[in-house]
Parts: sequence; structure tokens; C-alpha cells
Amino acid sequence: MKKRGEGFGYIANNITELVGNTPMVKISDKICPPGRTIYAKCEYFNPLSSVKDRLAVAIVEDLEKQGKLKPGDTLVEATSGNTGIAIAMVAAQRGYKCVITMAESFSIERRKVMRMLGAKVIVTPKGLMAKGMVDKAIELCEKNPSWHLCHQFESEANWKFHELTTGPEIVNDLKGQDFTHWVTGTGTGGTYHGAGKYIKEHSPHTKIIMVEPEGAALVASGISTPYNEDGTPSEDHPAWNPHPIQGWTPNFIPKVLEDGLPLDLHDEIVICPGSEGIKMAQALARNEGIFTGVSGGATVWGSVQVAKDAPEGSVIVTMIPDTAERYLSTPLFENISADMDEEEMAIAKSTPSAILDQ
Ligand code: PMP
Repeated sequence: MKKRGEGFGYIANNITELVGNTPMVKISDKICPPGRTIYAKCEYFNPLSSVKDRLAVAIVEDLEKQGKLKPGDTLVEATSGNTGIAIAMVAAQRGYKCVITMAESFSIERRKVMRMLGAKVIVTPKGLMAKGMVDKAIELCEKNPSWHLCHQFESEANWKFHELTTGPEIVNDLKGQDFTHWVTGTGTGGTYHGAGKYIKEHSPHTKIIMVEPEGAALVASGISTPYNEDGTPSEDHPAWNPHPIQGWTPNFIPKVLEDGLPLDLHDEIVICPGSEGIKMAQALARNEGIFTGVSGGATVWGSVQVAKDAPEGSVIVTMIPDTAERYLSTPLFENISADMDEEEMAIAKSTPSAILDQ
């Protein structure tokens, strides 16, 4: 590990160069079962604090390489938030405009962050679910020739970037250790497909565990999603119910995920109740100072279930996709009050000055 004070040894030319190379941190025995090791790969160390920064760089650079993007063109995507924030960052840096469609059910701070980065956010009715915002994005691009859909759910550039970056980063950082398990959830499936492919090829004995939300375990259901010619879904998935793990499992199996399934990457699927994801995200904050959203909580919860059944000495790597700060207006912060509670009031009153009348 580089010592504090040493510096990075380089200066980035622009913010997108700083995407990736995220650190891993050991989860303590307050959460990890004894005799096992869990390392969390903290994707919130990316410049805009989520795993989606990788996808945004990958997709924009892919469109540029194909010669599809002209200066001043508009990047469009349907997204629950992190992708929009990441695309807005890359668009701002490269001089593109950015339009994001987003169902109204997702947290409002995400809309504000995107607007701060200069993007336009088109909010779609929550009754139409994920497909509603996807259809809106497609329609907007059909109407405007210089508007380009990023296709996060269909683009091969998504999983290929994880094969080139996330996978090697994990395997390289685990050199010299017996890397027994890798645990991940799926949103687009980019992380699972790309990093999973690299891990299976370069560390073949590592078991891969997919975590799916309770009530929306689409891969576990064995029912596939029918697709249109361009890879977008043509039907809602019958096994899908609303769940609180934002960023995971839209109401269809994305093409990026579907294309990874024939590789037989995962050895097991663990199903996580949304409430456990929330509780674990809170436990990680309070016990470890690891500040992650519900999907990070759910992945760590899945990793703890795996650790309990795994042989002593197992080394489990778990993905932490983003930061808890994206969830201030969601159930993750529901029991966290802005006002002082009784204990805080008692501390305030224990000395004479500056007592707030609350
Ligand atoms: N968690 C969160 C919070 C996310 O935003 C995403 C990306 N949608 C994921 C997990 C899953 O990542 P991927 O798209 O690579 O499957």
C-alpha cells in the first residue's frame, strides 16, 4: 500500500482518467463470520461515487470510436440515477449535452446531482416502471437525429469495460491469497458478465455468487425475457415485483446480463430480502464506517450468508456499488431524523450554553 503523503505519482488530464482502480477494504469480525475473510471493493471511490462511472466512460468512448458522436451532440439514457450521474459527468467533460429519463420513484437527490452536472432530467410516471423511462428515451432519440441512446442495458461496451478493468483489478489485488468467492448483484449485468468472465478465466476455482432481490429473482426464475431486434425488452418479466434495492434488477433481464448467462459464470444464486439490504447498509455505516447504498448492503448480506456456509479460510470479495449519500430521501435514511433525539437533547442540556428550543 502506498504510504500517506506519497501522492499518486501522476496528475490526471481530466476527471474520466480517474475512473476505476477502486480500493478493497477488509470487513471486520463485527460483520464477517469468524475464520472467514470478506473484502469489499468500494466502487464509491470512483469520481462520481458509483460503479456506473465505468460504464459511462466505456459507452461514450465506444460511441466516439465508432464515429457516432459529434461535438455538441446529446447523450440520452434511461436510468435509475447512478448511470445518469456518470454519463452527465462524462458529457460535461467531453462537451456533449445530456438528457436523462428517470421514473419518479427514484430518489430526488439523484435528479439534482444530474442537473448540477448540466444534464436535463425528464421524470416519467412511476406506474410505467423501468420500461416507461426506457420507451421515453428511445422516442426522444427517434425524434432528434443528433441525440444518441447510450444503451446501458444492451451495449457490449458495458461488460467489456468490466472485463478490462474491474475483473483484473480484483484478481491483481488478491494475488498471493486463495480467492475462493466473488459476490455481486446485477443491474445491467455489466459487472457480473465482464468481471465474472475475467475472474472465471484467471481464477477458475473462485466460486461466483449472484445476489438477487426477494420478489424479483428473475435469473433464479429460469424465465427469460423476450427481446426486440435491438436487444431492448419487449415484455415485462412475470417474476418481477417492486423491490427497494435501487440499481438492481429492473423489470426485465437486460441483454448485457442475458448474454453472460450461457457462460455459466455463477455457481449459486442467493436471494436477499430488501429489508436485509437496508439493515446491512446501516450496519456497515455504524460498525465499519463503510458508507454504501442498499445494493451494497444487500451484496454484503449475501456475502455473509456465503461466508457462514463456506469452509474456514475462505476469502470472499464483495462489490460495494455506490455511496449511501445517494439515498438521503429513501427508506435507508427513514429512521434518521434531522432533529435532535432524546439522547442528543440530554447532551445539549448537560452544559449551559447554546441550547436549542426544539
Ligand atoms: N448497485 C447500484 C446502486 C447500481 O447503480 C448498479 C448499476 N445499475 C448496480 C448495483 C449493478 O451494476 P451493473 O449494472 O454492472 O450490474
